[in-house]
Amino acid sequence: MAVRNIITLPDPLLRKKSAAVERIDAELKALADDMLETMYAAPGVGLAAVQVGVPRRLIVLDATSKEEEHRPLVLINPEIVELGAEMRVYEEGCLSIPDVRLEIERPATVKVRYLDREGRPQELAADGLLATAIQHEIDHLNGKLIIDFLSRLKRDIIVRKFKKQAKSVKAPEKGSDKAPDKAPDKAPDKAPDKAPDKAPDKAPDKASEKGSDPAGLTP
Ligand SMILES: [Zn+2]
Repeated sequence: MAVRNIITLPDPLLRKKSAAVERIDAELKALADDMLETMYAAPGVGLAAVQVGVPRRLIVLDATSKEEEHRPLVLINPEIVELGAEMRVYEEGCLSIPDVRLEIERPATVKVRYLDREGRPQELAADGLLATAIQHEIDHLNGKLIIDFLSRLKRDIIVRKFKKQAKSVKAPEKGSDKAPDKAPDKAPDKAPDKAPDKAPDKAPDKASEKGSDPAGLTP
């Protein structure tokens, strides 16, 4: 197993629709194992294959809290078969959009069908953080990101910021005459803190503020 590199905005691959997995072979299992290791190292609660540069319909998840034992999930060709009517707001982050956290409203429960790591058909009914994470990761397979929940204006601001960062990493600007006023707000070469692909700790407060967390399956 190995930790793989996570691609970040504005990598165009993040906008690509991932293709179905056609064969579950040793290579795919190794990818799934690497993805789990990468997710735990980040740390995050979910990761889609496209985030490590492989646009295939494969996601890994573990929405257990730190105190619990790990419960890794590998979902191959996941399909949502049912979304609950009740909505819920979580503050979500994304490993591919470091340091951005957004409150996002999604159905509170979800039923998903998929093949597990051994290729067996499975169905899973999820709520709480896991339900949010499943939807977040399946969005990745369709080229959708959490910033797509924002207005176009706000989304553009974030995208522009990441484009600028990417540029400054690639080609350190040499005393160009434009924009002398913006001292780099970040050392470009410092690895950004990987904000987890998760709607973590603060989420329960937010959710309960809105009175939408009766079950409290959240960590
Ligand atoms: Zn994400």
